[in-house]
Amino acid sequence: MTVGLRREPRTLAVALDWIPAHCVVPDRFTRGEPFELYDYQFRYLANFYLVRPAAQWVPDDPILGPAFVYRRGLLVDPQKKGKSPLMAAHICLEAVGPALFAGWAEGGELYDCRDYGCGCGWVYEYQPGEPMGMPWPTPLIQITALSEENAGNIYDSLRPMIEYGPLRELIPKTGEEFIRLPGGGRIDVVTQSARSRLGQRVTFVPQDEVGLWTQANKMMQVADTQYRGLAGMGGRASLATNAWDPSEQSLGQREYESSAKDIYRQFVQPPAHLSYLNKRERRQIHRFVYGETLRENGGHVDLESIEAEAADMASRDPAQAERFFGNRLVYGSGSFLDGSCWDDRAFPLDVPDGAAVALGMDGSDTDDWTVIRAETEDGFQFTPCYGPDRRPTIWDPAEFGGQVPRLEVAAAVDELMGRYRVARMYVDPPDWKSEIDAWAARYGDKVVLRWETYRPVQMHAAAQRLATDVMKADTPFWHDGCPVTARHVRHARKSPRPGQRYVLAKPSQSQKIDACVASILAHEAACDATAGDLWPKPAARQKLVVMR
Ligand SMILES: [Zn+2]
Repeated sequence: MTVGLRREPRTLAVALDWIPAHCVVPDRFTRGEPFELYDYQFRYLANFYLVRPAAQWVPDDPILGPAFVYRRGLLVDPQKKGKSPLMAAHICLEAVGPALFAGWAEGGELYDCRDYGCGCGWVYEYQPGEPMGMPWPTPLIQITALSEENAGNIYDSLRPMIEYGPLRELIPKTGEEFIRLPGGGRIDVVTQSARSRLGQRVTFVPQDEVGLWTQANKMMQVADTQYRGLAGMGGRASLATNAWDPSEQSLGQREYESSAKDIYRQFVQPPAHLSYLNKRERRQIHRFVYGETLRENGGHVDLESIEAEAADMASRDPAQAERFFGNRLVYGSGSFLDGSCWDDRAFPLDVPDGAAVALGMDGSDTDDWTVIRAETEDGFQFTPCYGPDRRPTIWDPAEFGGQVPRLEVAAAVDELMGRYRVARMYVDPPDWKSEIDAWAARYGDKVVLRWETYRPVQMHAAAQRLATDVMKADTPFWHDGCPVTARHVRHARKSPRPGQRYVLAKPSQSQKIDACVASILAHEAACDATAGDLWPKPAARQKLVVMR
């Protein structure tokens, strides 16, 4: 075969055939029988082991240059569909099977297990032009997960898969903590609490539940360390997860949304018109996402028990049920923002009089608080002060005889309008309509605008804009560390709305979120001022100089 004849990538078929010949069903009544891949599992692995048409094999250095089309794979599927046994089989293959490219076949060559110390008698004959495979000389595999429990799911499939089948001859001892492989290799388990086991030299890293890996829990850094280690060894990672909560900026989300062409992504989502809240449509969604794995289609999943589990979870957390069993990306009813991520952005500084700012105000009357937050063009957000006592612009009605002091708020707005160059001010109107109209007349109806926070589409987008700018690395957003705002940010919960959106809600009547809402409005006003080129021109502006 000449290279010129190979135009299409071809999968390492010997690797896919090796699995049912060596891996066995790890549990249930069919334990010990050959592990036959479902179509979705086959499709995932067939893509993972897709070999580049131009790949060349150098016998002395089998890992020279990337032989495979994809650097890593990402599989997103619902609970109990069989991700853990698939990962276990994937690990067996990378541990002792033909997982490495070993040149192109002329035809008639054999992969004979005996050549690699396996006495099972399995032989694979190559067709002309297909890629050949060989095992890693020293495989170093790290099963990596956030929790022991996640890692345990894979490990608990892996051990019986080896112990009850032909692999027990090659891998005689499977320990509780790690597994020794022939040739000095091993399989280890790395979790958030056992990050010290992160080694540099890894050949294969299965990463489980990457929809839970974030900057805040340090798993994002674990992943990046592993990717660097893999790159050095010519190894690869295989990622699996349930659908994630898009507000959490997880590793799963990052890898899914990344523009990288060398990540294989398999994520089949149910038709968008079906509602998870409707019982009949929820059943259709489950039929769709579980498909061939359902018992009615010859698989292992009992639809009724999925229905029951999903309904049970939905009664407590509908968003999570839709992610776990419906395989959809849904914003959770959990916290709006990670409080420690908000705190990480604190960097107090004085904003000089005359600075250009945008304002956001969440107005209230008798129960909730009224708060004004400000943001500079540079992205610094703060709670301004007013009056002779330099009080912060936060009003708890309880401190004022049960009602927000409207005249005092109006005086504060007047003072802020005079002290700063206000490019734009958004005010949540329900209780403040007449004041807003008066301010618009006085300071300009292009400056002071009503911004209704009950509109789910707009509120979701604005909340998400702030959350993203807080959570993502390298955004210019920071703030004054205002303790009330920090508390209100921690209180804010996502309340799901149709269309996979959310608005903000308080967890209880006494846990206020108004400063968080004002922060969202100030940020939205600042971003809109930037987008609309509404900031005062540089000549008239005192540019903030900040050393970070
Ligand atoms: Zn064998």
